[in-house]
Amino acid sequence: MKVTVFGIGYVGLVQGAVLAEVGHDVVCIDIDANKVERLKQGHIPIYEPGLEALVKENHAAGRLNFTTDAAAGVKHGEVQFIAVGTPPDEDGSADLKYVLAVAETIAQHMEGHQIIIDKSTVPVGTADKVSAKIAQVLAARQRDDLSFDVVSNPEFLKEGSAVADCMRPDRIVIGTSSKTAEDVMRELYAPFNRNHEKIIVMDVRSAELTKYAANCMLATKISFMNEMANLAEMLGADIEMVRQGIGSDPRIGYQFLYAGVGYGGSCFPKDVQALIRTADSIDFDAKVLKAVEHRNDEQKCVLFKKISKHFNDELHNKTFALWGLSFKPNTDDMREAPSRVLMEALWQAGAKVQAYDPEAMEETQRIYGSRDDLSLCGTKEAALRGADALVIVTEWQAFKAPDFELIKNYLRQPLVFDGRNLFNPIKLKSKGITCHSIGRAIQI
Ligand code: NAD
Repeated sequence: MKVTVFGIGYVGLVQGAVLAEVGHDVVCIDIDANKVERLKQGHIPIYEPGLEALVKENHAAGRLNFTTDAAAGVKHGEVQFIAVGTPPDEDGSADLKYVLAVAETIAQHMEGHQIIIDKSTVPVGTADKVSAKIAQVLAARQRDDLSFDVVSNPEFLKEGSAVADCMRPDRIVIGTSSKTAEDVMRELYAPFNRNHEKIIVMDVRSAELTKYAANCMLATKISFMNEMANLAEMLGADIEMVRQGIGSDPRIGYQFLYAGVGYGGSCFPKDVQALIRTADSIDFDAKVLKAVEHRNDEQKCVLFKKISKHFNDELHNKTFALWGLSFKPNTDDMREAPSRVLMEALWQAGAKVQAYDPEAMEETQRIYGSRDDLSLCGTKEAALRGADALVIVTEWQAFKAPDFELIKNYLRQPLVFDGRNLFNPIKLKSKGITCHSIGRAIQI
């Protein structure tokens, strides 16, 4: 099938590449000419496991092309994906200007019947707004012979395993009441639906809400566990034990039950906030969601508070080795990353940071530029040299079994702040290292 994808970000690029991999003929469009040019030359703008090979192979095979030419792109596709960003507006609601700009572009160039697929995460009612925008442009073009369907098809990929998630989705949600659109969507996704039925067809509004409900549920699990961790710490319990004790209940499950330094990234924070704003707009007080957001904001400050307490609020000229900058492992995405909150608080207090991340160093450099109080180190060991403590912020695999003797030798004092509970504080104590973790009263 001929497919057009507007927006070459995490979602658009991965989805485009995966659709090309199964044989669809995909054109990806972006307004960022530099990104498009670099992609044509084989430069992949983001880090995702498996993505580079997938893009290069399918581009070379002629099934995956990149352009800024929206008119040609619209003409190419039997279906048009909208996969552009929906960042928070000033009040936290989802800003739909990019989505509606694409709708306008499609309407300006479309011929015949078009199926427009909303893959961006958008508030309930957006498909109606997209339809209205398209109808308005078609009326101005005096083309009442043209017709269209707007389908909601939210994306559930996880950064860090985006390619695998799109190749083998757990579910494919399709929001439409049009039989024609449903049939086309079924054909489009047939290669991903062979093993068992993954397609769930529903009305558009339910599909739009499903995406927010999924992200808010996951964010709720994280904030809940962080709340339990804070309680455990004060009550003399160990959150790691509690996690195992409750995760073994199949109604709860082990997934997403880790206490830590709060959720970040480009989705959970903005989606929780956007759903709160949606609720506000209809005079509904989303109490649970507000608490989830509030707990997360506080949790992002927990590591700094522990560090500050340990050093009696005297952090001036202290140096901290930070392992992990991206908001989670296997990505270079720094959007809303807890590491940023921590680094900025440390700098504010006059401390210096020596940081290492397997993938997010370039992105950190881009965000913060050169500054005297930030050294980006080539290895995790180099980050330790002469630091007053090691701080674990992101749980990359490479941090899980480090050489503790080396850590002791390189640090000024044997002190670790473990924001992801990677280490057993009792074992570290036996090695002569003081370890502060999250929600574990047994520490030190
Ligand atoms: P992104 O910021 O990485 O990429 C968006 C791209 O759209 C950019 O390259 C931008 O230049 C381009 N763009 C903007 N206006 C355009 C236009 N008029 N025409 C063509 N291109 C245009 O965004 P993303 O992370 O891929 O997210 C896209 C959407 O998918 C968002 O709504 C997001 O919430 C949702 N989503 C993201 C993820 C994720 O993990 N990143 C997962 C599921 C859903």
